[in-house]
Amino acid sequence: MIRLIESEGFCITQARAKILLFIAKRKAKDCISDPQGQHSLVTEQIPATLPQTKIRPGADTRSDVLIVGAGPTGLACAIEAQKVGLKALIIDKGCVVNSVYNYPANMVFFTTPELLEIGEIPFNTAHFKPTRQEALEYYRRVAEHYKLHIHQYQWVKTIAGKDGDFHVTATDRSNGIFDYRARKIVIATGYYDLANLLKIPGEDLPKVFHYFREPHPFYDTDVLVIGGKNSAAEAALDLWRHGVRVTLVHRRVGLHDHIKYWVRPDIENRIKSGEIPAYFNSTVAEIGLDYVVIKTPDGPVELKNDFVFAMTGYHPDFDFLTSVGIELSSEQCRPVCDPVTLESNVPGVYVGGVIVAGSRTNEIFIENGRFHGKQIATHLKQKLGGTAAQR
Ligand SMILES: Cc1cc2nc3c(=O)[nH]c(=O)nc-3n(C[C@H](O)[C@H](O)[C@H](O)COP(=O)(O)OP(=O)(O)OC[C@H]3O[C@@H](n4cnc5c(N)ncnc54)[C@H](O)[C@@H]3O)c2cc1C
Repeated sequence: MIRLIESEGFCITQARAKILLFIAKRKAKDCISDPQGQHSLVTEQIPATLPQTKIRPGADTRSDVLIVGAGPTGLACAIEAQKVGLKALIIDKGCVVNSVYNYPANMVFFTTPELLEIGEIPFNTAHFKPTRQEALEYYRRVAEHYKLHIHQYQWVKTIAGKDGDFHVTATDRSNGIFDYRARKIVIATGYYDLANLLKIPGEDLPKVFHYFREPHPFYDTDVLVIGGKNSAAEAALDLWRHGVRVTLVHRRVGLHDHIKYWVRPDIENRIKSGEIPAYFNSTVAEIGLDYVVIKTPDGPVELKNDFVFAMTGYHPDFDFLTSVGIELSSEQCRPVCDPVTLESNVPGVYVGGVIVAGSRTNEIFIENGRFHGKQIATHLKQKLGGTAAQR
């Protein structure tokens, strides 16, 4: 193997070896699928025989703080770090606010706009609750306003080194490898990329989705929606309103308490009238090519089926966090961190946003995660003071 960047004291072959190991371990997970799963982009293992890396010389490879994830929290962290005079760089494996981009196309937030604001930039919307479109527009404008340095479509695979001198390696969509150096790291990688799997036969069929985008392709088909929270209720209603024969199944006795107040009566009335048949206290036992089997309190029920939406939640990438050395609590997998500074047990590595809550993904959302930027930047200022990286 050839050493490619010796001058930096960092050997790309090491990074490559780490990436190969990482990819081999997580191949099944390393999949950015589009919301309806039709165009999966898999990060392939990089064969050692390929014309090697496409290291692209970039001006922006050194920063005071490198932030993994351009979600609302990552953006807030960069803004606050810039405000205290630090050079911040954000890297995201997708686009800016990739999770919001991947919400259902017609989603309306449950949060009012002022509670989604970052960087003291007002968020004005046409109605009381913002739409996904308005949020995308807003966060783009904020990024522009603060001239944030964001590298999109680069997937951070490894973080090595130590406090004051971290080495970060990312890959892009054509397997180019990018190396970065940073004095501090913030991980704000969210939870929306990894779905909670049912682990039942047939779950891997292409007709099974964990993300709902829009109803049109499912017109005049039989669709099963699994789940009892907002995502399931909203998907079921949207599908039903667009000519889909929808059945809902949920393992609990009823719908979840936190369903949006304007969605609850709608879904409950559709269920009561039988327009959306629902099975509670029930689980899906098997998914076949044209059927599903549901385990109900009255015994198994087989239904004709064309598509399944398993809206069973998502979880943070715990493997990534532990690969960096971050310890997770035994219950709920919360990253060990100082609650005030958000510095993790790895000195110089901070955690921000929803990942701070571990598997309790409903505890932190944009409304409260957006304040993590200020918490982290306050500590960064104390630690780094005015000694920002050379530009
Ligand atoms: C349908 C839906 C509706 C919601 N509605 C609301 C609402 O009304 N109000 C509210 O406050 N919250 C809402 N939430 C929750 C909210 O979206 C999340 O809490 C919020 O996005 C978390 O922000 P974050 O910055 O921590 O993570 P995210 O927004 O998920 O951002 C994480 C980013 O990290 C990137 N990333 C991950 N791993 C890597 C890697 N290894 N390398 C590079 N980049 C990486 C991802 O691509 C992503 O862009 C909703 C969530 C969903 C799914």
